[in-house]
Amino acid sequence: MFNVTCVTKDEIREFAYKSGIDIVGFASPDCLFKYRDLLTNRYENGLSCNIEVNDIEKRINPYILLEDVKSIISVAVSYNVVYEADSPKSAYGTISRTAWGVDYHKVLINLLEKLRIFILSKCNDAKTVLLVDNNPLLERAIAYNAGIGFYGKNNMIINEKYGSYLFLGEMLLNIFFEPDKKIVSKCGSCTRCLKACPGKALVGEYKIDANKCLSYATIKKGYLSDDTIKKIGTRIYGCDTCQDVCPFNKTAKRVIKDEFIPRGLKPKHDLKEILSLNKEKFQEVFGPTSASWRGKNTIIRNAIIAAINSNDTRAVEPLKSLINGESAYLRGYSAYALSILDGENSLPYIEKAYFKETDVSAKMFMKKAIKKIRGEVFEDNER
Ligand code: SF4
Ligand code: SF4
Repeated sequence: MFNVTCVTKDEIREFAYKSGIDIVGFASPDCLFKYRDLLTNRYENGLSCNIEVNDIEKRINPYILLEDVKSIISVAVSYNVVYEADSPKSAYGTISRTAWGVDYHKVLINLLEKLRIFILSKCNDAKTVLLVDNNPLLERAIAYNAGIGFYGKNNMIINEKYGSYLFLGEMLLNIFFEPDKKIVSKCGSCTRCLKACPGKALVGEYKIDANKCLSYATIKKGYLSDDTIKKIGTRIYGCDTCQDVCPFNKTAKRVIKDEFIPRGLKPKHDLKEILSLNKEKFQEVFGPTSASWRGKNTIIRNAIIAAINSNDTRAVEPLKSLINGESAYLRGYSAYALSILDGENSLPYIEKAYFKETDVSAKMFMKKAIKKIRGEVFEDNER
């Protein structure tokens, strides 16, 4: 075993706090093995979504990443910044707090890198692996086992001082540290998040159906169900509702962190501007944030849905351009949105697009749009 006296937990905490990490905890690398049955159950009951890695071993076994791992340091950085978002007069789409400011992956990895350098300065043979959302290990479970916070009924990790607006990161290392104590849930009889969830994704206490979660819907590619289209509202990226209603976040410490203050991308961003994004403008506005990874078309699809849900007639002009664009599913969604927002005026545009359309799903959406304008019933078997 590695010489444990080369650096202490207190020294690591002290350095971490000075460099900008808000919470630090220590967990055993074996702490995840007990989640095997829970994960099996989730997969078997269809509660996982298709961005989750289904290989259970990769989710619970840190030894795959570092053969002689002895401890996991879990770190949390609050993004509960002091910032009041403006409400524009025109229709807007909402951006989750997780995508405000600079991409948190970069911020967290820099902080972990500093911590690694500090540990190496004390223990020069230490082996480490740094993780920030870039692998399938169960990071919330690590944070819970490291005493970062308790599991809320909304499945978030809640720290009594900082609440749940926390970015998490981990360092696997071959130095043994005594694990910190877990914290039992303090939700008590509260059920605010369960009642407020617009996707009805919190299917029980501490149980989430990822397929119903609107945060997942905003990053899922392609077509969404009619039900999801209604529920997603004006969300462009992510959903914060189950955290916004949590009493622990009402009293949580607010932090001053320039890196998480919104810049080009606003928390309530003008819809017409999103609908008109070209490649260059997308890079400029979304590129520096964590909302860019799912790409321009998914963001524009969400903006089309938001325009429908907020009855934003300013969207008509960009929609007339999108109906002839490169993306088939955006052509389909644009036709449908035009039928709602512009009715009969758009019929010639939609019919023209319909006759030249070759994509089956886009054509179906266009047919649905045409029938809607003509007041005809669209049968499900016309799909
Ligand atoms: S993120 Fe939104 S949809 Fe998902 S569980 Fe929370 S409130 Fe529900
Ligand atoms: S809203 Fe209530 S039940 Fe939900 S996580 Fe917060 S304290 Fe727990």
